[in-house]
Amino acid sequence: MQCESCHQQEATCHLISIDGDAMHTRNLCAECFEASSPDARQFASAQRDARCEYCGGQPCAGGTDFLAMVMGVQKLKFMCLPCSMEHNRYVQGHLREDTSRLSQQEQLDLLQELNKKADQHMRQWVSRRGSR
Ligand SMILES: [Zn+2]
Ligand SMILES: [Zn+2]
Repeated sequence: MQCESCHQQEATCHLISIDGDAMHTRNLCAECFEASSPDARQFASAQRDARCEYCGGQPCAGGTDFLAMVMGVQKLKFMCLPCSMEHNRYVQGHLREDTSRLSQQEQLDLLQELNKKADQHMRQWVSRRGSR
């Protein structure tokens, strides 16, 4: 996969971010990633020692924990590519519910619940994948 910023190098950083109701994935090479934000440098150095949150593999994806972001806290979550794709798929599938009629507190509760479910789902998914 090619870096979507310079279109020259291999993309090794896969960032997941939530913007309003939409979830975005950006694929960048390490250089463009480090240049993309002041936090990225810190993130890149943290990633070197990090392990995938779910399977303990080499993380090649990271992003701000979406729940933490909703609550205004910056918390980084490290996942390997297969785990982050599955996590993304799961969360996106469940975010389709209409939340616009809910109050902010109810939306927050919903996201908190979803975060917990996604966590559980990922641990099951990883153990199923491991036994295959
Ligand atoms: Zn690049
Ligand atoms: Zn993993």
